[in-house]
Amino acid sequence: NASLAELDPEVAAAMNGELARQRDTLEMIASENFVPRAVLQAQGSVLTNKYAEGYPGRRYYGGCEHVDVIEDLARNRAKELFGAEFANVQPHSGAQANAAVLMALMNPGEKLLGLDLAHGGHLTHGMKLNFSGKLYDVASYGVSKEDHRIDMDEVRKIAVAEKPKVIVAGWSAYPRHEDFAAFRSIADEVGAYLWVDMAHFAGLVAAGLHPSPVPYADVVSTTVHKTLGGPRSGLILAKQEWAKKINSAVFPGQQGGPLMHAIAAKAVSLKIAGTEEFKDRQARTLSGARILAERLTGADVADKGISVLTGGTDVHLVLVDLRNSALDGQQGEDLLHEVGITVNRNAVPFDPRPPMVTSGLRIGTAALATRGFGDAEFTEVADVIATALAQGSDADFAALRARVSKLALDLPLYEGLEDWGLL
Ligand code: PLP
Repeated sequence: NASLAELDPEVAAAMNGELARQRDTLEMIASENFVPRAVLQAQGSVLTNKYAEGYPGRRYYGGCEHVDVIEDLARNRAKELFGAEFANVQPHSGAQANAAVLMALMNPGEKLLGLDLAHGGHLTHGMKLNFSGKLYDVASYGVSKEDHRIDMDEVRKIAVAEKPKVIVAGWSAYPRHEDFAAFRSIADEVGAYLWVDMAHFAGLVAAGLHPSPVPYADVVSTTVHKTLGGPRSGLILAKQEWAKKINSAVFPGQQGGPLMHAIAAKAVSLKIAGTEEFKDRQARTLSGARILAERLTGADVADKGISVLTGGTDVHLVLVDLRNSALDGQQGEDLLHEVGITVNRNAVPFDPRPPMVTSGLRIGTAALATRGFGDAEFTEVADVIATALAQGSDADFAALRARVSKLALDLPLYEGLEDWGLL
């Protein structure tokens, strides 16, 4: 029963390094968040030992009486939180949830219509090297060249021409609400099923601060670890008529034994997502993103050819457009890394630069809101980012780094974690 530090000092040292990185820098990767102590406890628990193939009450293994309780709690909380008829909480990840959704809704060779990866779609929505692009016949819609928004008339035209079996809405990099009612009506018009992947904005939906796709879509998938703030994993919601097909697509279709420690952590985070405190956090997330978008459209930034896609945001992220800037996405990511802010470079629609370089940055506010950031702190971090990007290599990095360190110190992360017995 040696501790991790005693048994494996190499892994322990790297884990400590990562804890220090998370504490000392500002995490603004739009798909990341910080889970609370209770979620860490559930995930780092004896539940990792249990095999439980099947579903509560119908398992292929004995000894499932306690994990059944946990999975039922998770399923019921998911249904209640999102007002869904059915939930499957077993997907190990967002990509695996999506694989199961596609397996349930369509057969290999049939047509899937989704948002182009280059315009903000996800790999599992039909990218050619992904299983979705290999197994299915893929058509895509994009954003308009003028305002970088999804034009529903255009989606309709493409859907009518392509006659897909499934239309997927949802995105990895798009700063605006989508019109789920319009997607539903297009799907009905062409006889397609509507699947919405709300991985990025699920936390906002749970808080009632983003339109919900649940009333419109046949099936909704999500990750649990982005705005929703839970463990790394996936979740599927659906109309009751899809229950059997989704369940059998997840197990035995895509997966073997469910990760019961992750399912317990999901249950805990879904409980948290129903609280007023969670709503407040999502409101601060949105407000922070608006503050960031406003600062990144300031005169000093605009002078350098830097702007924000669609001129603002309705969600937890901002997409910085560097197409007219001397700075590219890679350089922007590196500059911000140097001042202690972690973001990811991201291709923007109609990007002239190659995918490993890109002309964009995706900057999210969910993790910092979890850390306690409010408008004052977001205003400060937005100014640090804008100053760093506008001044480029001429920026005073030491001064900017000091401002970041002050923010990190003022709102400390995982205080007392050393005493939680996890390391
Ligand atoms: N769906 C969307 C829209 C995403 O943005 C992501 C992750 O970035 C996923 C699915 C996949 O989630 P995971 O990384 O858990 O497989």
